[in-house]
Amino acid sequence: MRLNFTKDDEAFRHRARDWLIANVPRERAPHEGMPARRFSLDWLSSCHEGGWAGIGWPAEYGGQGLPPDRLVLWYEEYVRARAPSILDCTFVALNHAGPTLIACGTEEQKAFHLPLILSGRSIWCQGFSEPGSGSDLASLSTTGTIDGDHLVVNGQKIWTSFADIADYQELLIRTDPGSKRHKGLSWVICDMTSPGITVRPIENMAGVSHFAEVFYDDVCIPLSNVVGALHDGWSVAMTTLAFERKTAAMGLQLELSIRIEDLIALAEPLPGTATYERLSDLRAETAALRAMTYRTLFREPRTASDGSLVRLYFAELAQRIHRATMDVLGPAALVDSAWTHDYLESYSETIAGGAAEIQRNIIAERILGLPRE
Ligand SMILES: Cc1cc2nc3c(=O)[nH]c(=O)nc-3n(C[C@H](O)[C@H](O)[C@H](O)COP(=O)(O)OP(=O)(O)OC[C@H]3O[C@@H](n4cnc5c(N)ncnc54)[C@H](O)[C@@H]3O)c2cc1C
Repeated sequence: MRLNFTKDDEAFRHRARDWLIANVPRERAPHEGMPARRFSLDWLSSCHEGGWAGIGWPAEYGGQGLPPDRLVLWYEEYVRARAPSILDCTFVALNHAGPTLIACGTEEQKAFHLPLILSGRSIWCQGFSEPGSGSDLASLSTTGTIDGDHLVVNGQKIWTSFADIADYQELLIRTDPGSKRHKGLSWVICDMTSPGITVRPIENMAGVSHFAEVFYDDVCIPLSNVVGALHDGWSVAMTTLAFERKTAAMGLQLELSIRIEDLIALAEPLPGTATYERLSDLRAETAALRAMTYRTLFREPRTASDGSLVRLYFAELAQRIHRATMDVLGPAALVDSAWTHDYLESYSETIAGGAAEIQRNIIAERILGLPRE
């Protein structure tokens, strides 16, 4: 683990800072629909023109192949500049669909999709979860039946973020008839404009419809869209989830440190008061989260269960910070709807990307060595 940043690192940090200060959009990102799509694609395309899109991707695919310590510097400057949240509608494409294609895709798939993703010309969504197959993903039952050089897909996905504005989907389906659990699945690229797809948005309690149910009724997908080997989708899906949970999570974790500093600046708590104590504790916890994030990134060998520790701590801390925001600001929090929106959205932190109970199971079994469930 490196403990110091070099002069070159600091020069990189300053280049990133200068570019961000000059280019971060002043207006707030819309939460949903075509305005969100336009805003995010414009921002990604401006990052691309500046040479800052997908900087962790290998250079041969248009990135800079930067190591984790440089990505830390980038994300630190990114959140400091209050750039748009990385968890927008370009997140899937940039942070896990693209990297999965790089790791497992064919040359044709890479040549077609990677330039579109990096330059802000396509949105992807993730079609993994189904009703009854969320935590237990291996029980999924949407099928793809081989018919000549196509798969014919039937079934349903749910909680698909940005399905209504996506061009493509990373779709996990059962292609080997009669197969069970992790066997017989395939990871395929689904064109969201294909006939037979119905997207039905779901409104959450913040009043925003950024995820949806997706129905597949005899949807034809060419076999050339299978990523990795046919019937070997589970291992491709694990690659996707590993990317999803890796460096991108770092940006979200660093965003929290800005959130608590903003709250402290706004609330101006007096020393000795309960609010002062509470916000001090939250600031300390945010620093602890940052330290955990760095430790996970730089420790070798890195294990998936380390990620669960950080993910769980992040999710619960985010909820505590958003709850404190509402308590401390009181009715004033309602004046700026962004505080209320973020508070209501924070309830999903302990569900999305692996529910808190599942993270606790992983920590119990793989880190603490407790008996399996
Ligand atoms: C904001 C948001 C965005 C999302 N975006 C996407 C997306 O783009 N694409 C996608 O595919 N999915 C997406 N999801 C779905 C997400 O992956 C699932 O919600 C998550 O995996 C949990 O699955 P579930 O909702 O089916 O809950 P379930 O798995 O049914 O779990 C219900 C409850 O039971 C608990 N539980 C389940 N199994 C166990 C166990 N073995 N031991 C102890 N407790 C258990 C869970 O922790 C949870 O509290 C999104 C979810 C959210 C909240």
